[in-house]
Amino acid sequence: MASLSFDVVIIGAGPAGLMAARKAAEKNVKVLLCEKDLSLGAKPCGEAVSGSTLQDAEIPPSPKFVANRIKGFTVYAPDESKKVEIWSEELGFGEGYILEKPVFLREMASRAVKAGAEIWMRSEVSGVERKADGGFKLAVNRLGGKVTVEAKILLGCDGVTSLVAQTFFERKGYEVIPCIQYKIVGCRIEEADVPAAYVGGEVAPKGYVWVFPKSREEANVGVGVRGAPAKPYLDKFIERHPEMFRKAQPVEVKAAPVPISGQISRIYREGVMLCGDAAGQVIPLTGGGIHSSIVAGKITGELAGAAAAEGEANFSEYPKRYTPWSNRIYRSLTALKLIENLGDEDLNMLAEVLDGRDIIDLANGFNLERVGAKLSKHPVFAERLGQALLKALGG
Ligand SMILES: Cc1cc2nc3c(=O)[nH]c(=O)nc-3n(C[C@H](O)[C@H](O)[C@H](O)COP(=O)(O)OP(=O)(O)OC[C@H]3O[C@@H](n4cnc5c(N)ncnc54)[C@H](O)[C@@H]3O)c2cc1C
Repeated sequence: MASLSFDVVIIGAGPAGLMAARKAAEKNVKVLLCEKDLSLGAKPCGEAVSGSTLQDAEIPPSPKFVANRIKGFTVYAPDESKKVEIWSEELGFGEGYILEKPVFLREMASRAVKAGAEIWMRSEVSGVERKADGGFKLAVNRLGGKVTVEAKILLGCDGVTSLVAQTFFERKGYEVIPCIQYKIVGCRIEEADVPAAYVGGEVAPKGYVWVFPKSREEANVGVGVRGAPAKPYLDKFIERHPEMFRKAQPVEVKAAPVPISGQISRIYREGVMLCGDAAGQVIPLTGGGIHSSIVAGKITGELAGAAAAEGEANFSEYPKRYTPWSNRIYRSLTALKLIENLGDEDLNMLAEVLDGRDIIDLANGFNLERVGAKLSKHPVFAERLGQALLKALGG
């Protein structure tokens, strides 16, 4: 039995925690990762990632965990005859993937273990307190038994309900939206390499429906909405699309929240850092958080490992190194706040004005100044969207 004292303890084996465990262990320090679930990837997920996500995870694409390679994306306006098509190659992005996320997480776990990390499954951390020497004492319910673990450094990668956030951080304004997803088989999807999003007040108020195919017959189909229960919207969408779902059946039904209020103001304190969903590090307009969580896990794992190895912590580097992502999250949130107030007619019209590059920039918080300037010239969207966007960005 291993000793119960560790240099770095990480709570939560999602994308953030698994990346952090690997990076910390690569510094040759004692690392423990505690996960309360029985298996990795139990949480529902659309499983869509960009190619650069795998690059940042330092894991090359493999048929083991890539269910489907995607070459574009279509966003449907409320009037579905209007749509914006996004072609990754044309826009200079590589291909994207629909993962088998649990298998991908096992690949991440395998690399963390190879680097020297210990992983405890079905081990819920039920309490954490700071010791007089600045370290941490954790109460862990491990496989039904109670264990006490000590840590010099603590990483909270424990998702939306984060115990670490509740104990050591303020999450003022932290907001989540309910999502529900079905894994559906027996579908008839015309273009399996082009996932789709559907927007509009009727389809998903202040959110969207996604259809992320794994093949022509199987897809992750889900919805996130604001201020309403999600399931009726998903059922209605499926009913309205017999061309895809007439003979289809859900074989998995799961729900989970997604944080959409942006990154919280403080993401580290003495000896402790917060990553991923726990810190609100999700791109608000898309709800995508795998990539942003992996990058946060990588930075905090490196910093935690180095601090334990060298005896000197430099955690202020975390927000500095994460700045490109914090900016993207902030800018996507700015775009979301403006777009979510548009009615269906506006969204139909917007689909005629915006092209694929505009959608990519808006959704990801990239070059919003360019989109703002373009919309500023439009007779309908000039003030409400174009100038409002530029003003919100301080331009
Ligand atoms: C329905 C849905 C669809 C999504 N689709 C996509 C998508 O297609 N693409 C994308 O990029 N993102 C998507 N996301 C978002 C993405 O799943 C998350 O942003 C990402 O998983 C966050 O990673 P994380 O490691 O921070 O947290 P999580 O993946 O939530 O992992 C946190 C882990 O901590 C564990 N834990 C919590 N508390 C404790 C405790 N006290 N003790 C021990 N363990 C604990 C949990 O069991 C969990 O395994 C989706 C989210 C949802 C809900």
